[in-house]
Amino acid sequence: MPTLKRILVTGGAGFIGSHLCERLLSENHDVICLDNFFTSQKSNIAHLLSRPNFELIRHDITHPIWLEVDEIYNMACPASPVHYQFNPIKTIKTSVMGAINVLGCAKRTRGKVLQASTSEVYGDPTVHPQTENYRGNVNPIGPRACYDEGKRCAETLFFDYHRANQVNVRVIRIFNTYGPRMHPYDGRVVSNFILQALRGEDITLYGDGDQTRSFCYVDDLVEGIIRMMNGPDTFVGPVNLGNPDEFTIAQLAQKVIELTNSSSKLVYMPLPADDPMQRQPDITLAKKHLGWEPTIALREGLQKTIEYFDSLDLSQYRKPTPHTAHGAAS
Ligand code: NAD
Ligand code: UDP
Repeated sequence: MPTLKRILVTGGAGFIGSHLCERLLSENHDVICLDNFFTSQKSNIAHLLSRPNFELIRHDITHPIWLEVDEIYNMACPASPVHYQFNPIKTIKTSVMGAINVLGCAKRTRGKVLQASTSEVYGDPTVHPQTENYRGNVNPIGPRACYDEGKRCAETLFFDYHRANQVNVRVIRIFNTYGPRMHPYDGRVVSNFILQALRGEDITLYGDGDQTRSFCYVDDLVEGIIRMMNGPDTFVGPVNLGNPDEFTIAQLAQKVIELTNSSSKLVYMPLPADDPMQRQPDITLAKKHLGWEPTIALREGLQKTIEYFDSLDLSQYRKPTPHTAHGAAS
């Protein structure tokens, strides 16, 4: 019988957080979902509210929280460039003060805490594919810095609490992940392209569409996250979690058009400042230490995501923030 744990998921109502809560509940753990609903809404977790082992706390993780838990998954942070650039100072506070608050909680309870870091710590990488020992190429004063540097500082805090206070930590670097429950108006490339294709609107390619990303389906990612949390204490990370299949953004647009049978045309818009030209995870470490690799190909994952977006009643979603990506272009 696996041990049942009390688990806190910060950002638990978000895209990835809601899938994580669902998975932990299915393993019968006691799950506390903490969220301030900045980039999500209750509908993501409405189906979990009646579960006896699920609890929801509306709270902002920049403020301390006093809870008795065995494990913490720290997912709270706006993740889409449009969202994290809306209030950059708040974004960096969420990463840095959020990390301090969850680390303080784990230190007091002698719990384990996992940080959702990001491939953005590599910035616009000059090493390809990206390995965990690559130290990155981040512009510290650009429009993406509030997110990139906030996440880098959070990693620093995790390793300092680990060294100085023996807090049991895990750090994962998540590469572009997509799937059901992404916010339809988050401005990320997968949600934008699918909504545009379903509505027959122009597909907005930023730059010439030659920049690359590697897209991981959310179920694969959640499996990797759980394996990392439950893995040996000798492997604390950082570990890359992502799908190594790399595509240009133009290829992604073509796939979405094909899978939706859309009549949409491509339109070219300016590339936002500091937009990374390439991104592909080297997942050798995850394979070796966690026995993990993605199993869901882009075509299959896109089909599931298209079905989800097609079934949404968009009138139920407010646009959380205006789009700022192009305003930030130099
Ligand atoms: P998301 O925006 O859907 O989820 C983030 C959640 O955190 C939302 O529910 C939001 O309301 C909440 N939140 C934001 N600020 C908060 C605060 N101050 N206090 C409490 N809650 C707060 O994004 P996501 O894609 O689910 O990302 C989850 C985590 O994974 C983030 O930390 C993100 O940086 C990381 N990540 C995601 C990706 C990706 O491709 N989706 C890639 C790299 C890293
Ligand atoms: N992108 C695009 N059209 C869109 C949205 C995004 O061409 O409507 C591009 C964006 O410039 C970037 C890539 O798609 O090169 C991925 O963008 P996203 O915002 O999803 O995340 P990022 O990986 O840049 O953090």
